[in-house]
Amino acid sequence: MSSPVRHYVGGDFDASGEPFPLVDPVHGRVVGEVPAAPAELVDRAVRAAREALRGPWGSWSPAERARALHRVADGIESRFEEFVAAECADTGKPRELAATVDIPRAVANFRSYADLLAGRAEQSWHTGTPDGRGALNYTVRKPLGVVAVISPWNLPLLLLTWKVAPALAMGNTVVAKPSELTPSTAVLLAEVTAEAGLPAGTFNLVHGKGAGAAGQWLTEHPGIDAIAFTGESGTGTTIMRAAAARLAPVSFELGGKNAGLVFADADLDAAVAGTVRSAFTHSGQVCLCTERLYVERPVLEEFADRLAAEARKLTGYGPMISAAHRDKVLGYLTRAAADGQVLAGGAAPRFGDDRDDGFWIEPTVLTGLPEDHPAVREEIFGPVVHLAPFDTEEEALTLANTGPYGLAATVWTTDLARAHRVAPALDVGIAWVNTWNLRDLRTPFGGVKASGIGREGGDHSLDFFSEPMNVCVKL
Ligand code: NAD
Repeated sequence: MSSPVRHYVGGDFDASGEPFPLVDPVHGRVVGEVPAAPAELVDRAVRAAREALRGPWGSWSPAERARALHRVADGIESRFEEFVAAECADTGKPRELAATVDIPRAVANFRSYADLLAGRAEQSWHTGTPDGRGALNYTVRKPLGVVAVISPWNLPLLLLTWKVAPALAMGNTVVAKPSELTPSTAVLLAEVTAEAGLPAGTFNLVHGKGAGAAGQWLTEHPGIDAIAFTGESGTGTTIMRAAAARLAPVSFELGGKNAGLVFADADLDAAVAGTVRSAFTHSGQVCLCTERLYVERPVLEEFADRLAAEARKLTGYGPMISAAHRDKVLGYLTRAAADGQVLAGGAAPRFGDDRDDGFWIEPTVLTGLPEDHPAVREEIFGPVVHLAPFDTEEEALTLANTGPYGLAATVWTTDLARAHRVAPALDVGIAWVNTWNLRDLRTPFGGVKASGIGREGGDHSLDFFSEPMNVCVKL
């Protein structure tokens, strides 16, 4: 049993605010409650973060901050099973996923930014002057100040810490608001930051919904100096408006409608296995999941048969996060069944036990829909992939690059030259060749078009969460 959901403000846990129910998506049952932070508490969190910036945390050296981040990582590792259990309870995801991806990645987020920070050099230049004595320019990186971190429900701790770690590394203080659907691991993280000796007010946590609640109040708060957000593109637009009012910088990781391209020369075993992962991991509730697959015509039929057979065999997958999300996905499936063909899945599974009250959808393979169909154009964020044929490399690129999003894409081919031609020509932030979701945390991560603004990962995050300042000294 995880800790009760509480806010963490200025070093104190607090359960103030009208509670709303926390629902277990596996069985559709209310299992707890989440206090909705009142506006006054959001304000107090921002003020506590400002004070910590002026006070102890602001005076810690980069080396001290790096050590603190490693202590947070140690703290997560020492309570690993508690974190895994809390993540699984909130999201319904299989234990294996939380234990091999979510929680280890949260640990790695803290460690990798701590190590990068420790190894970061500052820049300097010698400049000529008319009197020949010269000048020395050097750049110092300062924190932005108080940063709001707003995160979604699909990879709750992973995505929260992906922003919190670099923000803290660069000396900022944080007010975090996790998704109202998955608040529990953030509470454990708050406990760990306290155990790791982070000064009160360095990391603050408020719970609540977005519009007309804690999320909106945080983004509109004049004391917030920057906003790091992961979530839907539409929410990004709303948050950008709030940030624009005071010209606060934003870093946005938003939605996707990711394409996969399977060329006839691909290793089909690898392409089928890779697509099973890329379409159905966490029941398609990963921003990087493939929802559109374009297959070169000569291998389409074989590929479709094999993918559908694998989808039908899948067990051990998790539910949709909520009844509302399940209904949204089912809405797409109903329209797709009327307008195209369902090769596998297409409905809610029946288990014959208490999971039938949960929010499940079968792994689904669709085909035969026009490119402008909502199930092909819009982000479904469920275990649903649509297959369509292509005849030329040029057509494959046009299909993949059409649409409002540009997060990630995957190319399956054994032709080396083609791989290097096609991958960089994709309008996305991340392209994989013969793999999916293989990540090195130092590489740039993010999307183009409606999929995001800015890049996270490695130095990209450390640069976003800091302001370079030049000092020029006449020698
Ligand atoms: P969401 O936009 O509904 O919510 C995300 C967070 O924003 C939540 O904490 C929510 O409470 C808050 N929020 C909502 N409205 C707000 C408002 N008006 N002001 C301030 N905060 C507000 O997204 P979601 O449903 O939680 O997550 C799924 C979406 O996230 C999908 O679109 C998915 O593609 C995207 N996503 C993107 C990435 C990426 O790295 N690009 C990663 C994961 C998820």
